[in-house]
Amino acid sequence: MTPRERAELREDGFLHPLATRSAATRGRERPEPRCTVRMEFQRDRDRIVHAKSFRRLSRKTQVFLNPDGDHYRTRMTHTLEVTQIARTIARALHLNEDLVEAIALGHDLGHTPFGHSGESVLNKMAKGGFHHAIQSLRVVEHVENDGAGLNLTAEVRDGILRHTKGKGPILTRNPQALPATLEGQIVRLSDILAYVNHDLEDALRANLLREADIPPAVLEVLGPTHRERIGNLILSVIETTDLEREPVVLISEPAHEALVLLRDYLYERCYDHEEVRVEFEKAERLLRDLWQHFSGTRQWSSLQGEFTEEKLVDYLAGMTDRYAIRKWESLFVPQSWFVKA
Ligand code: MG
Repeated sequence: MTPRERAELREDGFLHPLATRSAATRGRERPEPRCTVRMEFQRDRDRIVHAKSFRRLSRKTQVFLNPDGDHYRTRMTHTLEVTQIARTIARALHLNEDLVEAIALGHDLGHTPFGHSGESVLNKMAKGGFHHAIQSLRVVEHVENDGAGLNLTAEVRDGILRHTKGKGPILTRNPQALPATLEGQIVRLSDILAYVNHDLEDALRANLLREADIPPAVLEVLGPTHRERIGNLILSVIETTDLEREPVVLISEPAHEALVLLRDYLYERCYDHEEVRVEFEKAERLLRDLWQHFSGTRQWSSLQGEFTEEKLVDYLAGMTDRYAIRKWESLFVPQSWFVKA
């Protein structure tokens, strides 16, 4: 028996009957021989961690653009916080931690530079529109690995595509919106548990918000500190989800209300804050300039392959904040003439 086969047996022993078993994956688009050591979702996680788009997350905005402060979140630390929350929930519910981890690590790979301001520019410019979740799927299917993609399992790709909710309902029973696996549902919920809490903490750090302004109902239900709020939200998911009664990942009604209240508060007071918006507008202008510059074959010729709008979207969406800024500077700011001594 191989180490992988032994691991699959162990999975069978402790996973909930409704958990997604690695051995029962719906498989990959291009079938591959199984690994002797790692189970299928472990391999997916490893492929994501080794991907270039994953490394670039450390230079992409979460909320605060290109932050100088070392303690602000980036897309990378957001991704790691989502992963940690999702794994805690999955382990407690006896669901597949490897699957949860792979989905969580990959969920934001398609995010643009400059956070949602970058996303809104590409959405306006691209004929087919733009959404980061769809782009995340595109990255793992068609961009990574020099265009060959990572050939991930169907369960991981589904979870990446359906992690998103925007301002829409946090809980849903709509099968179109809900990931196909319980593990995907955990990541979908963990994403918002992570970001409302860390964005609040970063906004307090940035002096955009004051502790005293946080809606009292949020503090009453979730607790007075960042640590307690995360802990209580995770506990609420674990205690409210009852897989014997219904195969859906849930959160208690009071915790859900507090979560919605906190999200709305952040949209109004942080994401739409004047100081944040001014910088977002600059970022939008910068990306629009890059879009216009590269739209057309003439400027594209220095890059690889024939020009298509899809390739332009991949190129711009893949940029880190600093790469986009440097590219813009090199194109639009006169360079000082170098004088030899
Ligand atoms: Mg996310």
